[in-house]
Amino acid sequence: MNPSVNQFSELTWSDLILWAGKKTVQEGQKYQQEGNVKQLALTKSGGILAWVEAEEIFSTRVECNADEITTDCSCNSAEHACAHAVAVIIEYIAHLKRNIAIPVAEKNDRRLFLL
Ligand SMILES: [Zn+2]
Repeated sequence: MNPSVNQFSELTWSDLILWAGKKTVQEGQKYQQEGNVKQLALTKSGGILAWVEAEEIFSTRVECNADEITTDCSCNSAEHACAHAVAVIIEYIAHLKRNIAIPVAEKNDRRLFLL
């Protein structure tokens, strides 16, 4: 597996809270627990991509390189971290823990064009 992807699995709750803030992490956790993260996929650059159903459906991409998390989300939040990105990270970690295989996104994945 791509080493940069594995860095997500090292993330702890306190890392997430430090990165996104407690309120955003709680919101993201709620989206994930309610099953609002759909069609999780890996990107060729080692990031993760998913749809997140919130007030509307957002396309969200998260990358983790050298301990720095960067995100792109179609919600265009002014914050560096939105609850959708948090939800995608939590869903990804849940997949890793349960050993659920994650497909690699196609180059022409529709979500990539929404970011
Ligand atoms: Zn967002």
